[in-house]
Amino acid sequence: MNKKLLIGLAAVLITTSAACQNNSQPSAAPAGNGASATGQAQTVPPAAKPTEKSEASVAPVGAGTPAQPSKPSDVAPGSAQQPAVPPSASTSTAAPITPQATQQPAPAPQAAAKLYKMNPKTYDIVPIDPASADKNVVLLTFDDGPKDKDMLEALLGTLDKHKAKAIFFVNGYRVQQKPELIKLITDHGQTIGNHSWDHIDLKKESKEKIDQQIGDVQKLVKELTGSAPQFFRPPFGSGGDLVREKAKQENMLFMTWSNGSLDWDMTVKKNDPAKVVSNVLEQLRPGSNILMHELPWTVEAMDNLLTQLEAKSYKFVDPASIDTTL
Ligand SMILES: [Zn+2]
Repeated sequence: MNKKLLIGLAAVLITTSAACQNNSQPSAAPAGNGASATGQAQTVPPAAKPTEKSEASVAPVGAGTPAQPSKPSDVAPGSAQQPAVPPSASTSTAAPITPQATQQPAPAPQAAAKLYKMNPKTYDIVPIDPASADKNVVLLTFDDGPKDKDMLEALLGTLDKHKAKAIFFVNGYRVQQKPELIKLITDHGQTIGNHSWDHIDLKKESKEKIDQQIGDVQKLVKELTGSAPQFFRPPFGSGGDLVREKAKQENMLFMTWSNGSLDWDMTVKKNDPAKVVSNVLEQLRPGSNILMHELPWTVEAMDNLLTQLEAKSYKFVDPASIDTTL
């Protein structure tokens, strides 16, 4: 390892950390934005009834990635600041910057075979051909982001640790505020879904407004990532014919959920990560489409939740393997 390379690496570190600081907004809204979360409680689809399925004697599957130091999941809601910038390194002579030295894991190529489809009545994810795909899967989804870089990094780190994929259903106004977080999500090979621009109850809106609320998110995400979302979830699970029509027109699969974590009922002052886990496990069944949010207590619960799902022989379905046209 030569000196030149080391200097180059230091330069990369300096430039990236500088970029982060520029983006840091002093008064980001507290992560647990009540307004967007609350209403969903009333609209949990009936499908989410507890199914105490075969926990009998399943051995942990795949045991997943042993090592990897888990990222600290102590996410402070509103505060959280600045990771220490490596001091020293006074490389005033601009050292040659090696393009993309180490940094993040390369995004997984998104060409997965289509093995799953959604049951349009229950919103569960099921094998297209039961003989060639495991039915013991769950779909992980996180709504209402992107909110906060530190929180998101912790969440993405835990998903990486378990080799788990998820859909991040984003709101346009948040993407507009922090477009860099979309890239952070896709750099980890995760999928972006459309959750409308403003997180309003679309069922009450005109066709024109609905088209704008959905269409503008498609445009913005495409602009940022090169491809428009293929999944749509209406805020509060509330969507009528016009909403479904627009989703279809935009080539998106319309879904609500079949397993509600109830994380949206918790607050910064009153929250319980263990309860997020037990809420999900109580409703667990093959194909569970699990609704969660980008919230600190959910991020804190994630490593435990994923570990327990693995112990029950569940796998995490890759959204890219869901055929959105069926
Ligand atoms: Zn939402």
